[in-house]
Amino acid sequence: MSNVVIIGAGASGLMMAALASERGCSVTVVEKNEKAGKKLYITGKGRCNLTNAGDRDSIMESIVTNGRFLYSSFNSFGNYDVMDFFESRGVKLKVERGMRVFPESDKASDIIRCLEKTCAKFNVKFIYGVRATEILTEQIENEKRDSGAAVKRKAPERRAVGVKLDNGGIIPCDCLAVATGGLSYPSTGSTGDGYGLARALGHKVTKCFPSLVSVRIEEPFCAEMAGLTLKNVRVEVSRNGQELYTGFGEMLFTHTGVSGPLILSCTAKAGIACEGALLKLDLKPAVDGGELESRLLREIKEDPNKQLKSVIRRMLPAAMVPAFLYKAAIDGTKKAVFVTKEERQRIIQVLKGFDMHITGLGGYNEAVVTKGGIEVKEINPATMESRLCEGVFFIGEVLDLDALTGGYNLQIAWSTAAAAAMAVSAR
Ligand SMILES: Cc1cc2nc3c(=O)[nH]c(=O)nc-3n(C[C@H](O)[C@H](O)[C@H](O)COP(=O)(O)OP(=O)(O)OC[C@H]3O[C@@H](n4cnc5c(N)ncnc54)[C@H](O)[C@@H]3O)c2cc1C
Repeated sequence: MSNVVIIGAGASGLMMAALASERGCSVTVVEKNEKAGKKLYITGKGRCNLTNAGDRDSIMESIVTNGRFLYSSFNSFGNYDVMDFFESRGVKLKVERGMRVFPESDKASDIIRCLEKTCAKFNVKFIYGVRATEILTEQIENEKRDSGAAVKRKAPERRAVGVKLDNGGIIPCDCLAVATGGLSYPSTGSTGDGYGLARALGHKVTKCFPSLVSVRIEEPFCAEMAGLTLKNVRVEVSRNGQELYTGFGEMLFTHTGVSGPLILSCTAKAGIACEGALLKLDLKPAVDGGELESRLLREIKEDPNKQLKSVIRRMLPAAMVPAFLYKAAIDGTKKAVFVTKEERQRIIQVLKGFDMHITGLGGYNEAVVTKGGIEVKEINPATMESRLCEGVFFIGEVLDLDALTGGYNLQIAWSTAAAAAMAVSAR
């Protein structure tokens, strides 16, 4: 049975350690933090949305980058296998809105504890406070490399023999998994170390960006609305007239721009193209311009001596009224009865198209995931083994894979970890 080293005790590293040790491998996990699962602990606002109970199609639709790469690993260890894994080990689960799965206790720590308990049962060795700095490899002899079944691709010329640590130590191994995560929330330990380890073996790493993140807005009025949530709005993001994203749902204003579910999905789907784009909000998507005009006239007729800002207040949250009037370029203290037809048109125009200019994406400090990573063409999708270096596996967010919110990113971590665990235990 294989002697396996796993770099990183995050979601994917812990799952691989649990499954590979259960199947008889001797597993050592190297983690640079002083404990396991630092990021897992804060997932789902501390509740851990560990997967999604939707059907296969809805899950595949929610994978934004390289979904096809995941077919095989999702087939072998899908969302129901994940639920079964935790439930069969005593963690009760519940399904919430959007088929999001959480532990019934609402505690991410229960998910970490379950993984750690499984690892402890099968004698996984954890080395904390140490950083892996280099994957050690050796040349594969030619006869060994060329023997066996017909090989369609060029076979790897090197294989893993160990890992070098920042304390000078070396751990020899038969197989090694890089489970170092991406670049988001670097305070949890995910600082992109895996990209350097992969590049040193000749792997390509695609350009990385923060994803599932807020966007920064040029207009300063966002700060005045910070904390305001808008429900049931339509967002359209475009650049030079070309649509990049449309969505319907909930968003919120922040001190530097906008965030919330709609905006996070927008960054996942449109990515870096958001920078410099125009974001348009339809504040009343269920009603057309004609109906809005009738409603406005009705409000004015009911109370003609009221100030316009009070009329607008009936249609929008109070915090939004000043910015709204600024965009419509109308004096809010004007009596409703004196609002001209042209001004009414402007009000309707802004209700249906409150636009703002995106200057950039929020940083990695607040991004839920990293878009980009190790090029998946160089990885076997059934096993997560490198096609360039035998015995090296890449799992989780370090790969060029990302998804929407809803439990899908952890599902990527679990499924890729399971694929690698099955492969190392079958050696
Ligand atoms: C705030 C927040 C909330 C989230 N909520 C959800 C959610 O509810 N549902 C969901 O599906 N997804 C969620 N995600 C995304 C999800 O947490 C990640 O996609 C997932 O944790 C990735 O798992 P991983 O194993 O690849 O990496 P990580 O969990 O990031 O683990 C990587 C580990 O490797 C260690 N490491 C790195 N480099 C080295 C090195 N050189 N040597 C030794 N150790 C090293 C790190 O310290 C870390 O412990 C959330 C993310 C964030 C930031």
